[in-house]
Amino acid sequence: MKTLIKNGTVVSDTDCKKSDVLIEDGIISAVSSSIEAPDAKILDAKDKLLLPGAIDAHTHMDLDVGFTRACDDFYNGTVAAACGGTTTIIDHMAFGPKGVYPWHQVKEYHSLADGNAVTDYSFHGVLQEKADDRTFAEMREIAEKEGITSFKLYLTYDMMLHDKDVFAVLNEAKRSNILITVHCENDGIVNYLRDRCGVENNLTAAFHPKSRPAGAEAEAVNRMLYMAECADEAPLYIVHLSSEAGLKEVLAARKRGQKHFGVETCPQYLVLNDNLYDDPKEGLKAIMSPPLRKDADRFALWEALKNDFLDTVATDHCPFTFEDQKQRGKDDFRLCPNGAPGVEERLPLLFSEGYCKKRISLPQCVKYLSSNPARIFGLYPKKGVISPGSDADIVIMDPDKKRTIRSASLHGNADYSCYEGMEIKGEIDTVLLRGEAIVKNNTFLGKKGMGRYLKRGISSLCL
Ligand SMILES: [Zn+2]
Repeated sequence: MKTLIKNGTVVSDTDCKKSDVLIEDGIISAVSSSIEAPDAKILDAKDKLLLPGAIDAHTHMDLDVGFTRACDDFYNGTVAAACGGTTTIIDHMAFGPKGVYPWHQVKEYHSLADGNAVTDYSFHGVLQEKADDRTFAEMREIAEKEGITSFKLYLTYDMMLHDKDVFAVLNEAKRSNILITVHCENDGIVNYLRDRCGVENNLTAAFHPKSRPAGAEAEAVNRMLYMAECADEAPLYIVHLSSEAGLKEVLAARKRGQKHFGVETCPQYLVLNDNLYDDPKEGLKAIMSPPLRKDADRFALWEALKNDFLDTVATDHCPFTFEDQKQRGKDDFRLCPNGAPGVEERLPLLFSEGYCKKRISLPQCVKYLSSNPARIFGLYPKKGVISPGSDADIVIMDPDKKRTIRSASLHGNADYSCYEGMEIKGEIDTVLLRGEAIVKNNTFLGKKGMGRYLKRGISSLCL
């Protein structure tokens, strides 16, 4: 089957060019100024942009947090992703039961995602509690057999790794060409402050950001970067950077010449601020870790994106319903499930708040949403670029249309959006996954289970 997209402007991470795109059997076969293919189905993209399908390298579909689960499973969550122009997700696994080794969660996650996901998908492995020879043997085996070439560890939460184990993991990762992704917050600071909130009866949402200050992030970012450096520059990826203080540590490492690391931020840290916590009821919607910060932090992160000092924009999509699940925290923010929806809003927000407001260029949008995540997570050039030989994952976008974000017209199971009522510019017209139109005019047209599991290669950060 052939499809020809005529008259569009193809955006890459370096430029924008008027081009036709020919697709054969799900793969892009030609990109050129004028293509004729009489037997192809024609899609007219006049005055429209063609972006490579976005890759969200940080989602938590169906996340089990012990007392409840994230309200999007791999079906609903990827329908929402697709409607927001995301054609590939790399999901962060939940911790397994105490004492399990990495294979346990790999199997668990296949059972959750296989046959359900509608976008292509992969997983990051998860490291919990400890790291010993069996952990390392399983990491190597999982990387080889499953193409899971990145593993996540946490510097806070009950199943965190302590520094000696973190350092052992980094040394192993360096030897095995595995990328370590890390949640950076200083556990001692956070737990001390949370305990104080309890003692002093400071339990409304407004105390959530106070219990997880920017300094707790910055300290952990600094520590991780130095530990990676001491492990002969082990490849490292810092998830969800939220603060200017954390950013300063990143910039310091870049200045020292450290190269083998990447840094992610998320739309919520670019677009929202901690005023959302002032209302004790509404504030529960934005209980996430790290928390929302000040405007100065947002502006610093935008500036860093503009100057190519960060690498990706992902979501940390981890939705819970406001009416039900989030209410667990109404008398004590510490009991509120951590996380918020966002997988569907990411591309439209970066386009509107980033490109349309001239904070970043259009190629930079593509770089942060698609090309860089593809490179860093071993999917390039199969994903992340509109080029002959690549999968035909394409977002056809009308750059001039305006709309207002309403949770009622989004596709996830959460009953709210943190961006409710925001006016944005740019509207997704059509989303193609391997040549097939899975979204048209905000309607999902695909089929449950059509997403393919992706075995990933080595991260560009290992090279
Ligand atoms: Zn996360």
